[in-house]
Amino acid sequence: MEQQMKPKVAVLTNTVDLFHVETAALARACDTLTSEETPADGYRSALIELTGHYQRLMRESRRLIARSDRTELELNILNSKLQQLSAELDYKAKHDNLTGALNRGAIFERANEILTTSSLSLIVLDIDFFKRINDEFGHPAGDAVIRELVNRLNHSLQGRGDVGRVGGEEFTVLLPAIDLADAMDIAEAVRRAIADAPFLCLPSHQVTASFGVSWSTPGIDFEDAYGHADTALYQAKHGGRNRVESAGKTTRILALNA
Ligand code: GH3
Ligand code: MG
Ligand code: MG
Repeated sequence: MEQQMKPKVAVLTNTVDLFHVETAALARACDTLTSEETPADGYRSALIELTGHYQRLMRESRRLIARSDRTELELNILNSKLQQLSAELDYKAKHDNLTGALNRGAIFERANEILTTSSLSLIVLDIDFFKRINDEFGHPAGDAVIRELVNRLNHSLQGRGDVGRVGGEEFTVLLPAIDLADAMDIAEAVRRAIADAPFLCLPSHQVTASFGVSWSTPGIDFEDAYGHADTALYQAKHGGRNRVESAGKTTRILALNA
């Protein structure tokens, strides 16, 4: 029995320096246990010594568990902060600061994604004579007009389509699987939402915008679809502004395989 107990204590002594006091106490208790000459008092004092060490180990274990729980909690808090930061960074990478609309890169990516599986109506709009607003009322007033215009645009769309800021005061709306006639109606409703009531931020000045609309089949490159809507916008500007023009039947964009 003596020979069976000793190797175990030796292994513990070699591997767990942190508990060398307890290991030594355990070795003494083992000796006491294995020695046939140990008097009853010897067992008792070995038990008392072991009990003391055992209690200390339990206290230490509780302290370490509490510390590990606190660390886990702190790590969880840090982790959720990191996730929040990552979501904010992702949002900032895809959205325009001033208006909250998708930025140019994000809207192009989204449009190309839509066009792989669906037809797409596209509205492009540009504020009329915006330079005058900046010149007469200042750049901050111009910024406020851009913000209010995007609010009106979003309100009028009621969740139909994605809005992107593609230039200073030029925006696009992606309307997947909506035909040209419906897209024209939507653009007209947005035009009226902008032109028909004075802007709260600039009540003394009538703000209007011009619109170009195109419709494309799936498989078309977004640059082409955008080019056609832009041509229609150009026509709206030259036709007197504050109006909606479409790329029209002759310039509807059809994928070769459509
Ligand atoms: P048009 O009717 O032909 O569109 O005339 P316009 O004066 O609106 O001409 P254009 O669209 O070329 O004007 C763009 C102006 O928008 C020029 C630039 O100074 C201004 N702009 C671009 N980005 C911003 C912006 O973030 N804030 C403000 N306040 N102005 C901007
Ligand atoms: Mg303009
Ligand atoms: Mg412009």
